[in-house]
Amino acid sequence: MCLCAAHRHSLFFGLPRPENVHRCGAGELPMPRRDWLKLAGAGAAALGGFPSRVAAALYGKPVRYEFVSSGVVKGSQTTVSLPDGALDVRFEFIDRGRGPKTHSRITFDKRGFITSLTTTGYSYYKMSVDERFTAGKGKAVWRNAAEREDRIATEPRYYVSIDGSPEELAALARALLRAGGPVPLWPAGEATIKRVRSISVSSGSLTKSVTLYEIAGLDFTASTVWLAPDGSLFMSGSQWGAVVPAGWHAVLPQLFAAQDQRAADNGKLIAATLPQRVGSAIAIEGCALFDAEAGTLVPNASVLLKGDRVVAVGDGSLPVPSDARRIPGAGKTLLPGLWNMHTHMDVSFGPRLLAEGITTVRDPGNEPNYISKMQKQFESGELVGPRILIAGLLDGTGKYTAPIGITTATQAEAAEHVREWKRHGAVQVKLYSSLDPAIVPAIVKEARVQGMRVSGHIPAGMLAQDAIEAGFDEIQHVNFLFLNFMPDIKNRTQTPVRLTAPVERAGTIDLNSAEVRSFLALMKERDIVSDPTVTIFHQSAYQRPRDLASSGFGEIADWLPPQVRRGLLAGSFPVPPGKDAAYRASGDAFLKMIAMMHETGIRIVAGTDDVLVGFDTVRELELYAKAGLTPAAALQTATIVPARVMKLDDTLGSLKPGKIADAIIVHGNPLEDISQLRRVGTTIKGGVLYDARALYATAGVKAPPLA
Ligand SMILES: [Zn+2]
Ligand SMILES: [Zn+2]
Repeated sequence: MCLCAAHRHSLFFGLPRPENVHRCGAGELPMPRRDWLKLAGAGAAALGGFPSRVAAALYGKPVRYEFVSSGVVKGSQTTVSLPDGALDVRFEFIDRGRGPKTHSRITFDKRGFITSLTTTGYSYYKMSVDERFTAGKGKAVWRNAAEREDRIATEPRYYVSIDGSPEELAALARALLRAGGPVPLWPAGEATIKRVRSISVSSGSLTKSVTLYEIAGLDFTASTVWLAPDGSLFMSGSQWGAVVPAGWHAVLPQLFAAQDQRAADNGKLIAATLPQRVGSAIAIEGCALFDAEAGTLVPNASVLLKGDRVVAVGDGSLPVPSDARRIPGAGKTLLPGLWNMHTHMDVSFGPRLLAEGITTVRDPGNEPNYISKMQKQFESGELVGPRILIAGLLDGTGKYTAPIGITTATQAEAAEHVREWKRHGAVQVKLYSSLDPAIVPAIVKEARVQGMRVSGHIPAGMLAQDAIEAGFDEIQHVNFLFLNFMPDIKNRTQTPVRLTAPVERAGTIDLNSAEVRSFLALMKERDIVSDPTVTIFHQSAYQRPRDLASSGFGEIADWLPPQVRRGLLAGSFPVPPGKDAAYRASGDAFLKMIAMMHETGIRIVAGTDDVLVGFDTVRELELYAKAGLTPAAALQTATIVPARVMKLDDTLGSLKPGKIADAIIVHGNPLEDISQLRRVGTTIKGGVLYDARALYATAGVKAPPLA
């Protein structure tokens, strides 16, 4: 995964947020995202004023929790209740060299609200942590990685920390339960709690009833926490990382199953309420229509949909059946549904992706059973989400191997592993960074036999040029194009150096040199497609702490759940002293490479690697436009070009009679200003209508109303 600081600021209760962990462009993947998703909601014991019996039970006595990842204890949390009602919490775990180690001291008032907090130590990415909060005398003062605030407190608010331990979600849960209603938060927003269910768990001769709660208002998805009958933390997390009292980790699968069931129920509720299935035809009348094939805007167009198909495209004289649902299109632009060609899916992403206008995604790295099940659930409508194309991730072994996909260590296994992905519905294989270059030919050979595309990272030991010679169809991530000109580190690109070196050095490479030009000519000659995921690299070069605009998402930051917005404030890559200009130059070079590929005629497909799911595809297109592509050309990278690349342009990628009715209605004109794509009113997938704003709302996103 990413490198150190890139996403430290998206940490949530001491742990990385799922979206920022899983992305592959920046480095090795620490853990499957969906598991961090739940882990992100870890929390714990504040006894301050909560049921006094909790304090009595724990007072002075350390309560030890284990941090368990895939059945292995990798760390611990120790909570001590102090005589003044304060909590002393030590939390640490180790995950392949990364992992936080923090010490917190927290005091509470009678409501269970935090009156003071200090957390010191280091974060998951080994950044120094020094977080402090105090409340009192009508003021709240705090400092942390994202903020330095001194606020007038007109009402009591609960402080949500950035670098706290998993203990703190349970403390928040108790405060919410006592309040009996919404609780306002520092720095912003409010939280609510819902009791989901209680189940009985046993360890040896001990049995207890533990209760699952969901806390809403912090993140895109509800944060989950299990409390024991006395109100103390029992568990928060999931298979890949959870805290649970020492001696109880055998009950984890039971709790995970209950959480998965709840997540499925939540998803099914959205699927039961948001899709609008129109029995009759749908007519979008008098809109501007984006002709993705021609790259032009057709004024005053009307489009008729029926069932899951486009049945007619015409002008104002297009006959419309009398029973059709008529949608006035004046002032609006109708476009084909967008594609994100690089997202590591989690079921919770579905509604947000559709809200952004994404009706098709390609997943280039996930667990075979998980992704093929999700593909079917989205296809059948059991859950709400885009069409999924699977690119099966194959990696080798070693310290930096991806914890998802399929590990292929020998030539003999290669062909069978390619076929295994095919059985799971993959149409492509994605090679990963720790793969032994000696195995690459066997993978390429079998992929050809199976009719699958071949793409990937450039495995360590190879350069992009070697990969092209070996038969790659496509290269993921723009950094690998730059690494082609940094042969000195080619044997180390399975490590985070594959991100750090390009961010440090891309700006020093002469893009007009003969070497670069002949490399691009080779890409063009072999029709090598680029999935540059430039958002992640540009952000790494440009983002600075406490500068929202530099995150690239300033425009929509206020739409986000408060803790997500806050993550954008904390900066990205740590910029060493004196390197500011060099990093920006690299950011500019990434965009220049996009422009040069486009000019050379190399096909670019828009993908993001999940910088901010539900918002990052538009950001990717904004950056293509910033690089110099016309808005129409940028839009083609997310419509007709990926459809052609994936050989699905007979049914997808443009709005033509007979094609599948995947479309978006935008309140504005993204061909004048690509950022107008943020104004999606309706997303149509397979003829089913969705109110985009309502989809966003299911993820706690408050998009402003459309005029
Ligand atoms: Zn990748
Ligand atoms: Zn990726």
